[in-house]
Amino acid sequence: MAHNAPIRKIIHIDMDAFFASIEQRDNPELKGKPVAVGGSRERGVVAAASYEARKFGVRSAMPSKIAQSRCPDLIFVKPRFEMYKEVSWQIRAIFHEYTDKVEPLSLDEAYLDVTENKKGMETATAIAKEIKEKIKEATRLTASAGVSYNKFLAKTASDMDKPDGLYVITPKKGPVFVETLAIEKFFGIGKKTAEKMHGMGIFNGMDLRKYDEVSLVQHFGKAGHYYFQICRGIDDREVKANRKRKSIGNERTFDIDVLGVENQLERLMQIADLLVADLKRIPVQARTLTLKLRYADFHTITRSKTLINQFFDENLIEEVARELFHQLPEDERGIRLLGLTLSNFIDEEEKVGGQLELGF
Ligand SMILES: [Mg+2]
Repeated sequence: MAHNAPIRKIIHIDMDAFFASIEQRDNPELKGKPVAVGGSRERGVVAAASYEARKFGVRSAMPSKIAQSRCPDLIFVKPRFEMYKEVSWQIRAIFHEYTDKVEPLSLDEAYLDVTENKKGMETATAIAKEIKEKIKEATRLTASAGVSYNKFLAKTASDMDKPDGLYVITPKKGPVFVETLAIEKFFGIGKKTAEKMHGMGIFNGMDLRKYDEVSLVQHFGKAGHYYFQICRGIDDREVKANRKRKSIGNERTFDIDVLGVENQLERLMQIADLLVADLKRIPVQARTLTLKLRYADFHTITRSKTLINQFFDENLIEEVARELFHQLPEDERGIRLLGLTLSNFIDEEEKVGGQLELGF
């Protein structure tokens, strides 16, 4: 980016406990109660938890069994993805009243570049406030907004004041804000990386700045470049409308190696459930499913299946995941990691052929 480029105005909007809030909205009996949206208790996973449930330590992607044990009064609700998608379209329509530079991250989250906006409004903060109000009016749900001059800080900001938050990090405040920000709160630094950083004496942005770019890359690979920038409040990534994904997937490393075909299959089906949930959130037409499996001795294998005449849907994901798993030779070793990924997408252009051209 050129150094004389104008400072961007970026908003990150994130709906509060999206799925769970919709369920509480539509069923008054659930209001104020710990709610988990998710599958059956035997081998289900939590797709979303209400704030009441979060107080008990219930988190999304947690096996329902564990969630239930942490919160005995937890109420499980079946997901209604059609409804979630509908609300998602409502909020996206609101975003587009202000800008077409909208980059959705999932059904309930998006970056907006409002540097130039359709209403000619002066400040991003005023826009964020209006968007929050319009969302509440249209959906009876709350959103949190982060306002800043780049994606990293906007995303971090939306998390600072949840729920129903509005948090602004100005260009003047940015570098100082990052100095004291705990490393776990940095978007893009996961639990494992945070632990590694703690071991290196890095607990906040200031600590991270003590490492030069070369040594960060030595320790963390390519991500080191990103860490070097974000701890200075720098992030030049653009808001990309219609971001194209190449794959969606889920993998899980287990605390204890999983032994026995039955247990292994059960875990695999949990991951299949997560992938089905992803597919509903991020509607893509995928032709290839890949199973990844890592044994206790770190030996890793992948197996894929590609469909010629159809796309993966809910049932096919489970069926083919089982099939791929059963094709593997029997093995005594425990499994430490399982993953499922969908790829080989058919994109919109391919699907509708030349029709897109007609608009021009
Ligand atoms: Mg959210």
